[in-house]
Amino acid sequence: MPTPLAIDGGSPVRRTLLPYGRQCVEEDDVTAVSDVLRSDWLTTGPKVEEFEKAFAVCTGTRHAVAVSNGTAALHAAVYALNIQEGEEVIVPTMTFAATANAVRFQGGTPVFVDCSPDTLCIDPKQVERAITPKTKAVIAVDYGGQACDYPALRTVTGKRNIPLIADACHAIGGTLDGRPVGSLADLNTFSFHPVKPMTTGEGGMITTDDEALALRMRRFRNHCLTTDHRERQEKGSYAYEVQDLGYNYRLTDFQCALGLSQLKKVPAWTERRQHIAQLYNTAFASMKALRPLTVRKGVGHAYHLYVILLNPDALNASRDEIFKALRAENIGVNVHYIPVHLHPSYRKRFGTHEGMFPVAEDAFSRMITLPLFSGMTDADAKDVITAVQKVTSFYAR
Ligand SMILES: *Cc1c(COP(=O)(O)O)cnc(C)c1O
Repeated sequence: MPTPLAIDGGSPVRRTLLPYGRQCVEEDDVTAVSDVLRSDWLTTGPKVEEFEKAFAVCTGTRHAVAVSNGTAALHAAVYALNIQEGEEVIVPTMTFAATANAVRFQGGTPVFVDCSPDTLCIDPKQVERAITPKTKAVIAVDYGGQACDYPALRTVTGKRNIPLIADACHAIGGTLDGRPVGSLADLNTFSFHPVKPMTTGEGGMITTDDEALALRMRRFRNHCLTTDHRERQEKGSYAYEVQDLGYNYRLTDFQCALGLSQLKKVPAWTERRQHIAQLYNTAFASMKALRPLTVRKGVGHAYHLYVILLNPDALNASRDEIFKALRAENIGVNVHYIPVHLHPSYRKRFGTHEGMFPVAEDAFSRMITLPLFSGMTDADAKDVITAVQKVTSFYAR
């Protein structure tokens, strides 16, 4: 007799829910924030520059521009490249909607492409096929924390001088061939939402080696004014000009203080995530019911997400049934992502539909994200493994 599943009234593997992701905020982080709350500058003060400088050093780039969230980072990158109404930007459909939305914010047209079945990162061959004379940029998403194949993407974009944006919102702490994520594309965007590898509550960053692009983005986050509040205070002047349509995408000083404090811990946290991923890899290696994603040679994985693909031939339950059964075991599984081209907003505006991107659609139908965050214990990871084995053996064909 197999162990009864919690969903059928059996006892769950865990008494309390293990979330799929969770921030790690420690006492020194709290102190860093409260120190700024007692200072003169709550926003547009010295901590912003300090965080940007430290972030640029950690990612091996010349410039880092802090913004209010990862979506604003993408929007700023698209603005910096001067994407105009009707121009095309190639984006993967296997991503969070913000990647494609950012193109639309500036009137651009997102052109979706499929992903590689083994990594779910954007497929460079599909990118090449999607390029037209209207293509003004490519956005690659480091899915789950694995850097995309940037050398292959460069080969495709480089000969046509198409700028490359890395949506690295999953991948802070990762590397490719020894180079840090953040230095791999012309513009690289990050998110500091609490589920991401480090947090500022809400927050984002763009890194680039291009000084002119960095200046454009600094202005953009502050209404495209020619001077900011602190510069005017220093000069004793009220004068500024609005040179273009910008936004208020500023990040506060106390958030930047949290970011500075968190950033120092990213290397240790990345190792911890890699350790947990290794526990999963080992446990799942011989299982017929599922397979983990492939990690390409040369990738230092940041493991924002640990994603498994179910094998429908070995199971007599759907992904949604297995998902619900795991939730009942108190394993906070998730799904990343519903392909963006299937969302109503895209279907209505761009006429996208099922069948357009078979690899992403197939992966979506079989994928489950397992809990993974730096504060997880080995015992937590064992609970996940136990629950996955329990549920998949119950539904084994
Ligand atoms: C989280 C995320 C974003 C958006 O970041 P926010 O800080 O939530 O705005 C964009 N792209 C990807 C791939 C993400 O995971």
